Amino acid sequence: MSNHIFGPVLSRRLGRSLGIDLLLEKTCSYNCVYCECGATTNLTIRRNEFFPTGDVIAELDDVLKKEPPLDYITFAGSGEPTLSLSIGPVLAYVKDRYPQYRVAVLTNGSLLSVPEVRNDLLAADLVIPTLTTTSQDTFVRIHRPSLSLSVSEILSGMIAFRELFSREIWLEVFLVPPHNTTDQEIHSLNDAIYAIRPDRIQINNLDRPGTESWVRPAPPSLVDSISHFFSTGGIPVDTVVLVPSQSSTRYSSDLLGAVFETLKRRPCTIEDIASMTGFHQNEVRKKLVILEKQGIIASRHGERGIFYYIPTG
Ligand code: SF4
Repeated sequence: MSNHIFGPVLSRRLGRSLGIDLLLEKTCSYNCVYCECGATTNLTIRRNEFFPTGDVIAELDDVLKKEPPLDYITFAGSGEPTLSLSIGPVLAYVKDRYPQYRVAVLTNGSLLSVPEVRNDLLAADLVIPTLTTTSQDTFVRIHRPSLSLSVSEILSGMIAFRELFSREIWLEVFLVPPHNTTDQEIHSLNDAIYAIRPDRIQINNLDRPGTESWVRPAPPSLVDSISHFFSTGGIPVDTVVLVPSQSSTRYSSDLLGAVFETLKRRPCTIEDIASMTGFHQNEVRKKLVILEKQGIIASRHGERGIFYYIPTG
């Protein structure tokens, strides 16, 4: 079983995406109330190698030599990928050795104020940073960040990265009503977005159970009105939905391994696991029932149905 490579998973934004996780679980500069990976256990802004870069590259070679059909190779996983010092070298290696694949980085954007981090991401095809607010108070309430982080410095970092990076930036705006959905918040966010000048704006909403149970998705009417307001400036706005993959090839013959690899990183429904792995929903259901009876996994209700997860502790 691979330690650093997971999937391919069917991503809501990126289609069939092979994930690279460079972090110790769960290492992040934020502890967001909406995080689907659970509470942050290592809250830090200190960059580290975490694992030998050569080990990650060896695992990647093992998977990519089979030439899996992919829409993206994505740096993501159980925390903030730019905290890893391996991200620059691994990204450069993938683009050099496997130029047929597009590479995306999902980042909370908190370290884009650091010049070395901006440089590390230059070889990517797509960078998706998150911005939820311009207010430090709201920022702290939603992200519960490492103490020294300031939202105005993060904004400046995003603007500086845009100056440097000519490929695609999709700016994710995650809605956490009512904290960042007031008129004042949305107007101020709109000003910030147009200062950053991303290629697209992606409005994201709670899809799986968040870390805090009080977090609820924004209702569709609110998403629509915010989306309409952001789009009046001319930047295309997407609301994040599941995108169909270019391929439905089953990636692994090991259902148990695929279930663990997927649930290790995020809670999923039966339908999620079936579409990520290519196994039939009935096969997945049977396996989950057995694992839950054995106490190896647990389940809880979310907006889209029953989500399965691996309990911690
Ligand atoms: S949502 Fe992303 S940025 Fe927030 S705590 Fe989770 S991994 Fe970190």
